[in-house]
Amino acid sequence: MPVRSLRQEEAAERAALLSVTSYDIAIDLTDLVDGPAFRAVSTVRFTATAGAWTFVDCCGEVESATLNGEPLPAAEEGRIALAGLAEDNELVVATVQRDTTHGRGVHRAVDPGDDNVYLWTTFEPDEARYAWACFDQPDLKAPHAFTVTAPASWTVVSNSGDPAVEGVDGARRWTFEPTPPLSTYNPVVVAGPFVELRQETDGHDLRLYARRTLASVLQRDSAQLFTLTAQGLAFYGERFGMPFPQRSYDQVFLPDFGGAMENYGCVTWTDNVLRRHEPTTGEWQWFANVLLHEMAHMWFGNIVTMRWWDDLWLNEAFAEFACMWAAERATAYGDTAANNVVHEKLDAYLADQGPSSHPIRQPVPTVADAESIFDSITYPKGAAVLKQLMHFVGEDTFSRGMSAYFAEHAWGNTTLDDLVGALEQASGRDLQPWRTAWLETAGVDRLGVEQTDDGPVLTAIGAHGAPHPQVVGVGAYRRADDVLEEVGAVMVEVDGERTPIEGLPEADLYLVNHDDTTFATTRPDAAGRELLVGRPSGLPTTLARAVAMATVWDMLSNAEATAAEAVGALTDVLRVETVETVVDPYLDLALRAAHQWAPESERAGLEAQVGAAAQRLVDAGVSRQAALRALVRTASDADDLERVRTTAGDDIDLEWYVLQRRAELGDLDLDAVEALQERDPDPDAWVRALCVKAASPLAEAKEEAWTAVVDRSVPVQSARVVALTFWRPGQEDVLAPYAQRYLEALPTLHEGGMIPGLALTATLFPVFAVDEAWVRHARDVAAAEAAPVVVGALTERSEEVLRMVRARNGA
Ligand SMILES: [Zn+2]
Repeated sequence: MPVRSLRQEEAAERAALLSVTSYDIAIDLTDLVDGPAFRAVSTVRFTATAGAWTFVDCCGEVESATLNGEPLPAAEEGRIALAGLAEDNELVVATVQRDTTHGRGVHRAVDPGDDNVYLWTTFEPDEARYAWACFDQPDLKAPHAFTVTAPASWTVVSNSGDPAVEGVDGARRWTFEPTPPLSTYNPVVVAGPFVELRQETDGHDLRLYARRTLASVLQRDSAQLFTLTAQGLAFYGERFGMPFPQRSYDQVFLPDFGGAMENYGCVTWTDNVLRRHEPTTGEWQWFANVLLHEMAHMWFGNIVTMRWWDDLWLNEAFAEFACMWAAERATAYGDTAANNVVHEKLDAYLADQGPSSHPIRQPVPTVADAESIFDSITYPKGAAVLKQLMHFVGEDTFSRGMSAYFAEHAWGNTTLDDLVGALEQASGRDLQPWRTAWLETAGVDRLGVEQTDDGPVLTAIGAHGAPHPQVVGVGAYRRADDVLEEVGAVMVEVDGERTPIEGLPEADLYLVNHDDTTFATTRPDAAGRELLVGRPSGLPTTLARAVAMATVWDMLSNAEATAAEAVGALTDVLRVETVETVVDPYLDLALRAAHQWAPESERAGLEAQVGAAAQRLVDAGVSRQAALRALVRTASDADDLERVRTTAGDDIDLEWYVLQRRAELGDLDLDAVEALQERDPDPDAWVRALCVKAASPLAEAKEEAWTAVVDRSVPVQSARVVALTFWRPGQEDVLAPYAQRYLEALPTLHEGGMIPGLALTATLFPVFAVDEAWVRHARDVAAAEAAPVVVGALTERSEEVLRMVRARNGA
């Protein structure tokens, strides 16, 4: 039976009517070793307006349900009606959830490496109701106390610290202390025969868990993970004026999981983040960012929670902003801003210039609508806008305002107004104009510099009217031989469309937003363009070069620069860049420009140019692993590949890329695939084998890879990788039928929840063998037949492909 999505008015009515005192939840996992059943008895104590009527959310199979001892009617559309409420109520609902293979709320994963079973729950936004009966909305917070009976060999982990464990009938019972008041999406239960690593740091008990077949990988990464966790807890505790209130902080890496989830005191992750090879610096930086993002949610999201999902954007944008702030100030990943500029921020600039542009804050009438919020406007744009806000009021003021906000609202619920109010109080500034312009207006400003007789002028064009209130840095650079010397830099508070810039000397290039303080696209003037595109390696800092590359990429996607110019600029900066967290995305962008944006006639030449840049990096020992991969991905024949193998030495990870490239070039060697899979200790090596097939131009191999992804035989995080490997240039004939196959799959891509909906829609989207008319047609089909989460992801991805198609056609 279909279930209903909660509407905002319903949630408000229910919150006005009742207040939850406690959840006591008894869970039985003993069936899960061989069977599908997850059993729960949810005992909810709550006070209410006497005599009133309401409902409790419940999407499991109900075995018994009573309110104050009286039996309740059957559930309909995921709700059980509760009539004749008393002032003090006790609701007891026993449920069983047998749908534990689709990742909705409760999931049973089997490790292909040793057949062990692992159980996890994940609830955001409203999937707790699939696990047990609850009032599933964020502003009915309550303590949750779990008692979990599990197979004797399993470890059970939940939100709160150390459980008491006792033996019962061949199983073990784990009793956890009640949590602080949490929203219903925040509790978690995970279980299985985990390996556990522990470290005591600064009064916190830090614990890491993973499946057994990844024990050595977890061990390898643990020191670095403990360090990052301790650095993050110390940084946030200080900046937010509130240490993390609980002793234990757990992080659990799980099979079949997508992304990462910020459950209070117990973050759950896809275990794809535990790389089966030595991670590159870029991979570590990403790991650190996500770790700090989820941790920021402990304060912003868990301790203080949005009242309704219309402020979910703020939750996510804040965590995304805070993780970069923390990485920069408190960890070894200080160049996170430069990385962000040439990575996620590029997606946001593009998204804000196409049909997926929307105001950051928008109405969310039902919980189901909340799923379409997880896009590039919410995450990277939202994060950039909050960073601009920090510069707008000043970093210390910002910290003060945040501390006051957490002190006042801890364990409660808030709206955007509460946050803006706290920052107005701290700064003494009226932030309403800022709020209206940045949060309620769509589109990105275009900033530039014009040289006039009275000196340079900052030009600002708003997407829909006046430009945003903002402060932005402008750097002035003068040519001296091969380098561009910075001869001055100022902060400018943008005042309308033309703001005179005081205090900058004459220069050959003015770089607007050179310090990445704002969210705006920028353009050089004609003289500056020659330097910015032609010899950006002359710029003196990693961040300035990154801002220049973001500008070049934005010019490429707006048909103001060619793929050849983009590859030229990127390979030029790769001559001088040594910060690996920036080198890795440069290599990736250069490959994308060569493979996806260049006209076919130029592709081989540009690939060779990227290959030469990668070879220079290998020789210089910079980003060796990423550079070796780029060498493989640009190799033109077997001899090239053999040379890379010789350089790399024994490297199983790289061997997979070599087989993949061989397959792409027409030599699918199934014996070699089988042999490597045998040799690879990774329990998920079969996914690598599937990637090799996905890259091949053989119809049978393509079919196998496509089907495995679409019918969900591949866990979501791995499916993303297979899908990205599928669309290769130069394979138009074999790829052509998959444009139609994609359209046919659209109505099912949201199944299994938001994460697969987002991931599959974007990564399966055809990159080749389609034209502009097809892309527009795909949008129409999605609008008519697909779920909101799919429509959102498709709209964003399709715009990028549309622009690629135009660039390839030289339009
Ligand atoms: Zn988040």
